[in-house]
Amino acid sequence: MKVAILGATGSIGGSALALAEAFPEYIEITALTCGRQVERLAGYVTKFRPGLVAVGGEAERDRLRGLLKDLGSPAPEILCGEAGQVAAAVESGAETVLSAIVGGAAMAPTFAAVGRGLRVALANKESLVMGGELVMPLARQTGAEIIPVDSEHSAIFQALGGQLNSQGLRRIILTASGGPFRGFTGKQLESVSREQALAHPRWSMGAKISCDSATMMNKGLEIIEAHHLFGLDYDRLDVLVHPQSIVHSIVEYLDGSQVAQLGPTDMRLPIAYAFSYPERWPLAEADRPGLAGLGPLDLAEVKFQGYTGHLTFERPDYETFPALNLARAAGRQGGMAPAVLTGANEAAVNMFLEGKIEFSAIVRIVEKVLEGSPVRPVEDIVGAIEAEREARRLAERFAGEMYKTS
Ligand code: NAD
Ligand code: MG
Repeated sequence: MKVAILGATGSIGGSALALAEAFPEYIEITALTCGRQVERLAGYVTKFRPGLVAVGGEAERDRLRGLLKDLGSPAPEILCGEAGQVAAAVESGAETVLSAIVGGAAMAPTFAAVGRGLRVALANKESLVMGGELVMPLARQTGAEIIPVDSEHSAIFQALGGQLNSQGLRRIILTASGGPFRGFTGKQLESVSREQALAHPRWSMGAKISCDSATMMNKGLEIIEAHHLFGLDYDRLDVLVHPQSIVHSIVEYLDGSQVAQLGPTDMRLPIAYAFSYPERWPLAEADRPGLAGLGPLDLAEVKFQGYTGHLTFERPDYETFPALNLARAAGRQGGMAPAVLTGANEAAVNMFLEGKIEFSAIVRIVEKVLEGSPVRPVEDIVGAIEAEREARRLAERFAGEMYKTS
């Protein structure tokens, strides 16, 4: 299978390339992209030899050319900018596109791949949050298969027997680890550091999604993601905190029966399933490079915070983590509101990661941007991207005002 990996130098990208290393008989890499980390990309290009590569800008393109020359590696075609990411998605001959760029920047290439009717293994959730009202109908029109990679949505897809159709369903229960600040009070959240926010207890992920897990905005975005993927109303999408992250999500049928998917806490599984669907590759059996640390799950041996063999569940703390209800409300409102939500959040998270604002300001800024943005329908992808960018600018302005007066 010919695969294009967008966001190859990230956490998801690295897991996908580990699979490409493990299963060369199944995966052929036709395109690799990244934003700025061209050193890492140069190594991957040398190893996997894609015909097409795209990077953030011209400076990155020139640096990559130099690096490949130094490595003695034949240079593929190297493109840059958003147009380059789009071309990598649709012009490399790939049948499957892994969308693993972080944030709103994934919107244009993801949309392009769906427009071409390709299989889209969708890790990036922001594009679905921003443009779900457009992307899902487009996929039905072009025949594109959108297969979720986000572990919860992959779990739901699997619990539904490998489909997005939710007939006969009563509820979807998204499980959440609760993040590094589970059990904290609002007061305690005021003094947490960047390092604490990035130290996820169960998953190893990129900085933005780690921070989103700490505010629980990640689960908020996932509620909207599930609404679009599975076509369920917001009052049928619930969240259950499950700190061990072994039960990846649950579906509940009209008769009250619940079906869950369980697995190791490792993104190689949902990525592989999005590639291999409807088949399954032997990740738990094969002794191959790229599969280190994977094996069958032994529930009796699950270790977490001093306990062995325990799986626990609790209700989310909606008061301490207002991002959950904020995202749900933006989803219900629909139109541009989710694009505004994700744009404001991305800007606020970046400011927090750069040390410009405190952790507890992230969600306050998002709320303020949502309040200050007009309610408009989402008409096209350009409009959704514009709304997201405008929300980022507004978030930066509000942050500036907040920190000037305090
Ligand atoms: P990451 O920060 O580790 O990697 C992001 C990738 O995107 C990098 O390759 C980076 O170079 C690239 N990128 C950033 N800005 C870009 C731009 N403007 N143009 C082109 N490329 C750009 O992120 P990650 O943790 O791998 O997450 C990627 C996506 O997958 C996110 O949307 C995240 O929500 C989603 N996701 C991740 C995980 C996980 O376990 N990491 C789980 C579920 C969903
Ligand atoms: Mg997830």
